[in-house]
Amino acid sequence: MKCAVVGAGISGLACAFELLEAGHDVSVFDNNRRVGGNIRTRIEDGYIVEWGPNGFLDNVPETLDLVRRIRLSDRIQVSADAARIRFLYRRGRLLPLPMKPPSFFSSPLLSGLGRARVVLEPLAYRRPRHDESVHAFASRRIGREAADVLVQAMVSGVFAGDARNLSLRATFPKMYGMEKEHGSLLKAMLAKRKGGGAGRAPGGPSGPGGTLTSFSGGMSDLTYRLTHALGKRISLGARVDAVISEAGGYRLEGPDETAECVVLSSPAWETSRMLSPLSGRAAELLGRIPGSPIVVVATAYDEAAIGGAPDGFGFLAPRGEGLRILGCLWTSSIYPGTRAPEGKVLLRTMVGGAMDHAAADLSDEDLLDLVARDLKRSMGLIADPERHWIFRHRKGIPQYVPGHGKRLAEVARELAGHPNLMLAGNSYRGISVNSVIAEARGLRGGVHR
Ligand SMILES: Cc1cc2nc3c(=O)[nH]c(=O)nc-3n(C[C@H](O)[C@H](O)[C@H](O)COP(=O)(O)OP(=O)(O)OC[C@H]3O[C@@H](n4cnc5c(N)ncnc54)[C@H](O)[C@@H]3O)c2cc1C
Repeated sequence: MKCAVVGAGISGLACAFELLEAGHDVSVFDNNRRVGGNIRTRIEDGYIVEWGPNGFLDNVPETLDLVRRIRLSDRIQVSADAARIRFLYRRGRLLPLPMKPPSFFSSPLLSGLGRARVVLEPLAYRRPRHDESVHAFASRRIGREAADVLVQAMVSGVFAGDARNLSLRATFPKMYGMEKEHGSLLKAMLAKRKGGGAGRAPGGPSGPGGTLTSFSGGMSDLTYRLTHALGKRISLGARVDAVISEAGGYRLEGPDETAECVVLSSPAWETSRMLSPLSGRAAELLGRIPGSPIVVVATAYDEAAIGGAPDGFGFLAPRGEGLRILGCLWTSSIYPGTRAPEGKVLLRTMVGGAMDHAAADLSDEDLLDLVARDLKRSMGLIADPERHWIFRHRKGIPQYVPGHGKRLAEVARELAGHPNLMLAGNSYRGISVNSVIAEARGLRGGVHR
């Protein structure tokens, strides 16, 4: 079958690769002049700096399987053990997030009452019928303080989101399922452990399950290898304006190509425009999926000048604790010896998100001042960076706001009359690299709706 894939981010590349492997005739179109979408690695004078994702968790088999099939396993780089230690900025200092229940009870992360409330989780009242927000769910199950401090910080740092305006069911489907099946998160975790599933922890505020993994040349190794496998089937600088239905399939306005099957892996707000000739309603619904702005400010320092390299993953900054940044990843500690030259330290600080759109519009100078001020306050870092990189994502991370699931179901109904037209990518069923790769894998069994 002749298939067109719109978007050459990791989702589009993985979908195209699966279709190719399944024997289809594939073409990929991206308006950008380079492949990778959000994945872009800058390699400069011994620094490997990520524009977008820092890695993926190794607990999703589809990603490792894809890596093996494109013969990239020898370039896998696993994060250091020390990177399991994550910190949270609270009451003026960085506190380690407890790795095990006993250390949680002695940790000053939450007040005594806040900790006691977490323990009452199995007694929480039952879920409401509506599409509950992440914050409402967390408040109900583990208490308001843990929701404000732990959950909101994690949601800001990972999703650039506002926990009060994200659907639990769409954003954390596993947690939704755990409550639904077991009536309690704690009971679900105990049941999983009993069943021997402890190795694949679902993750949560104290850190996700799995080990953060990347490649020796950064995340672009993945997109470049897929690009190599797809070769001339990829057209860059090829913006798709609309998808038109015609006899035997579709025509893509822009590149003026026809195909029997179309996979739209562009972000929902772009796909919305493309779909308006096919369904005004589907276009309107997709246009309601917002994207949060996020700016990555990467800074490099001389290790001696900052009194030694930090040890750990980095930290999250809950709102209301006096920092404007969302958090900071200690990149050269996560992947030691490879992300910065010997004796140098590389940090990546996140700014902006759904609760601070204005930060994304700050000038470079103001962003650097803001990062310097907050890193001084949190890490005691007083030296100026030797160099910096600023990566702006205007609509970086799609937000699964309440009603997301219903909206997707209605889009599916609207498009039901258009066979072999598929929506893929991080706007719909999971924002991570792992989710979009697992979704692409679904195409392996054949093209379907
Ligand atoms: C700062 C940041 C940090 C992140 N960190 C992590 C992390 O550590 N781990 C993780 O798993 N995930 C992370 N993510 C999320 C991850 O980057 C995304 O899940 C993933 O890259 C999304 O891939 P995608 O292909 O769905 O979308 P995109 O990468 O957005 O690709 C979409 C492509 O569509 C193209 N396109 C758009 N409009 C058109 C058009 N009209 N015609 C043709 N082409 C078009 C775009 O040019 C783009 O190349 C992070 C995201 C950001 C922004």
